[in-house]
Amino acid sequence: MTTFKTLDDIGDVHGKRVLVREDLNVPMQDGRVTDDTRLRATVATVGELADKGAIVLVLAHFGRPKGKPSPDMSLALVTQAYSEVLGRPVRFVDWEVDSDNVAMLRPGDIALLENTRFFSGEEKNDPLTVQRFARLGDLYVNDAFSAAHRAHASTEGLAHVLPAFAGRAMEAELKALQKALGEPERPVAAVVGGAKVSSKLEVLRHLVAKVDHLIIGGGMANTFLAARGVDVGKSLCEHDLRDTALEILEAAERASCTVHLPYDVVVAKEFAANPPSLRTCNVHEVAADEMILDIGPAAVEALADALKTCRTLVWNGPLGAFETPPFDAATVQLARTAAALTEAGQLVSVAGGGDTVAALNHAGVADGFTFVSTAGGAFLEWMEGKDLPGVKALER
Ligand code: ADP
Ligand code: MG
Repeated sequence: MTTFKTLDDIGDVHGKRVLVREDLNVPMQDGRVTDDTRLRATVATVGELADKGAIVLVLAHFGRPKGKPSPDMSLALVTQAYSEVLGRPVRFVDWEVDSDNVAMLRPGDIALLENTRFFSGEEKNDPLTVQRFARLGDLYVNDAFSAAHRAHASTEGLAHVLPAFAGRAMEAELKALQKALGEPERPVAAVVGGAKVSSKLEVLRHLVAKVDHLIIGGGMANTFLAARGVDVGKSLCEHDLRDTALEILEAAERASCTVHLPYDVVVAKEFAANPPSLRTCNVHEVAADEMILDIGPAAVEALADALKTCRTLVWNGPLGAFETPPFDAATVQLARTAAALTEAGQLVSVAGGGDTVAALNHAGVADGFTFVSTAGGAFLEWMEGKDLPGVKALER
């Protein structure tokens, strides 16, 4: 098992300047933070370091300013909200005056440094930019799993020039992911849903070799059904991926991975909430003018039975168009089953992906899973079996 240093290994930080990479890329509207989940995720690490008397220097990106300063993407806009979430004062530090301002900070103080992406060398992982950041700190803590799939100066470069440690959120994320796909208890099930196969091809290829049950739902299921000769009508479907889908099915068979495709589905002629044309049918009975918008109740029941035999579950992607009722039914029901099995101690359940998190919240079970990752791209790359550069750089 790969290991990495955590805050337990960091030693005495009193009076030390600790550069902490966090993900503060929060959504904003009319100058207000509309979802502070990411800010809250940093509290454990920043609070612990400040309590131990470190001078905490938070590094983060905000938006995509393309390597130059841009006032509408200044982290100054987030400082007040961040201070409220931390329940402590936060001093905003601009790069122009960073050294002077950092020199004024006392043990236990927290400073938020300006957007790292105002430097063109950040995304290029340019050594000069790495040095520019490094000279402000004595130690480096990476707490931003969601940015760890990028080898940027603040997410990867710094780990090579300063003593580097995983923050508490990063540590929790890595431990949960390791438990789910690193050395999982078997049998392992993976749910892969969402809109398109093309966006998750590498995920599917990796998973068939890793898991015992591959549950395919959402729009992706349509592509697999069509590849097997099912007429999916007007459904969202990537007909050009027929050969790829068949290859994945063959690879699964070679690896003794059971692929679950739905045998009943929920269809409608128009994509709207509770449309008059709504009906449930066998996958072989979809009419030419109908769309598959969710998997059916019999399929969900069979999936729930399969889950009951499993010890580990990894989930990315909703099973249907869950934003529009009643096409949330399958996702909600299977998510509740997974949460109940988790609460009964039978299942380790890990889920991730932007829409997946929204779907689990909608089902009211996000807290019932063992771990829910809010990292979108990084979670998918991890599900593809890739090394994440920001994580790799923290390895002992
Ligand atoms: P995530 O963000 O969790 O990785 P995706 O972005 O891949 O998930 O997919 C989520 C989207 O897939 C949702 O917007 C959902 O409405 C859509 N979706 C799921 N099933 C279907 C379907 N049968 N037809 C059309 N869209 C679907
Ligand atoms: Mg998405």
